[in-house]
Amino acid sequence: MLQVLNPATEEVVATVPAATPADVDAAVTRATAAQRSWAAAAPAERARILRRFASVVDSHVEELALLEVREAGHTLGNARWEAGNVRDLLDYAAGGVERLNGRQIPVPGGLDVTILEPLGVVGVIAPWNFPMPIAAWATAPALAAGNAVILKPAETTPLTALRLAELALEAGVPEGLFQVLPGEGPVAGNALVEHPGVAKIVFTGSTRVGKSIMASCADRVKRLTLELGGKSPNIVFADADLEAAAAATPMSFLDNSGQDCCARTRILVQRSAYDRFLELLTPAIEEIVVGDPLDERTQMGPLISRAQLDRVRGHVEGAGAAEAIRGKAPEGPGFWFPPTVLTGLPEDAPCAVEEVFGPVAVVLPFEDEADAIRLANATEYGLSGSIWTRDVGRALRASRAVRAGNLSVNSHSSVRYWTPFGGFRQSGLGRELGPDALTAFTETKNVFISTEGPAL
Ligand code: NAD
Repeated sequence: MLQVLNPATEEVVATVPAATPADVDAAVTRATAAQRSWAAAAPAERARILRRFASVVDSHVEELALLEVREAGHTLGNARWEAGNVRDLLDYAAGGVERLNGRQIPVPGGLDVTILEPLGVVGVIAPWNFPMPIAAWATAPALAAGNAVILKPAETTPLTALRLAELALEAGVPEGLFQVLPGEGPVAGNALVEHPGVAKIVFTGSTRVGKSIMASCADRVKRLTLELGGKSPNIVFADADLEAAAAATPMSFLDNSGQDCCARTRILVQRSAYDRFLELLTPAIEEIVVGDPLDERTQMGPLISRAQLDRVRGHVEGAGAAEAIRGKAPEGPGFWFPPTVLTGLPEDAPCAVEEVFGPVAVVLPFEDEADAIRLANATEYGLSGSIWTRDVGRALRASRAVRAGNLSVNSHSSVRYWTPFGGFRQSGLGRELGPDALTAFTETKNVFISTEGPAL
């Protein structure tokens, strides 16, 4: 059994049965049958069903959001956005069904066309930090491209996924086409990865587990998308609007209590603006409202679990003599950790290069543009990053030089369902979202049709 706790109160919200390998096997059998009919259905019919699914989600946004607050401790505003994001992802994917075109390529003696075939059954393994959106990033385009989906949510956050599966049935998504199997990673997750009837795995989670899944998939040459960890830079040049940069910095790493793969946890500031920037940043951090996720004024809630709290605390205590700017956090039950900014650390300190996955950032000074780029690229990750400058040439040069999949200039935004998302280096493999999202769930088949008549 999986026990779901409310991270803000430590109360038990629900207990949910954990799937076994036999459950996974039975789910794959059901999904395989459902996928055949789904792939054969008219594109307009599949699109209509997905739009209906979006519309049913839309009428349950508040219910889903409240469930997300209870099982994941997200602030209510964030949770509402997340439920709405599922609706938008389904709508956007539905619009792709009738536009999933192959190509016609000139050849002598015949006609050559490519066909984008669905893969079959897709296994989606999701993390706990954004349970709904991340599940839907893969599920919506995979269904739209004619596949069946088996979703394994994280152990701590199965409830919204289970509710989405019920809403799918209510919307007319065929039985067996979208199944949710809560369970433990090494058991149910691993069974999905190893099952010969699963054509592709989309894994979002830690780089450590992602690597082991990649190795298992290699054995079967199983298709794989990986969305892994991050340690993203927020580069502030001295010519930037420092007030705006400092005002935007707190939520660039405190949103979702820092449990965000795109969190800008390496704040790199040009030395000539360093003191002024810290002067501006300190009150901005101290003013962040941390507390009850259901209170609309709250900007940051708790961490997901005691294990995560211990991990984050260990990182900060292990940082030794670093000076810190600290915000406030509630006392008492719940997994609370205050907003924390460490300064005076060496560039290669663990907190400066490893993913903490909590409300903790480091500030490091740099000298000039070349030094900023060197420092920005000095981790094994490459997911996101921000560049603050008023010099458009510098913004473009830095955007090209930082090795990461998702950059923003004078902003911290990373994720839109209609623009591509994914990591360089150890932050991942493949891309999700954006105009090509459906193609990642197809196999290109090339067909040549001779116009010469039968060969003699
Ligand atoms: P995790 O790797 O511990 O778990 C992720 C999922 O994998 C869970 O569902 C878990 O049950 C499952 N799992 C664990 N072991 C498994 C195994 N042996 N076989 C199959 N499945 C297994 O990660 P987490 O702690 O849940 O999530 C946090 C991590 O996710 C962070 O590193 C974060 O950066 C990353 N993340 C990345 C993105 C992105 O898009 N790049 C987005 C969100 C989170």
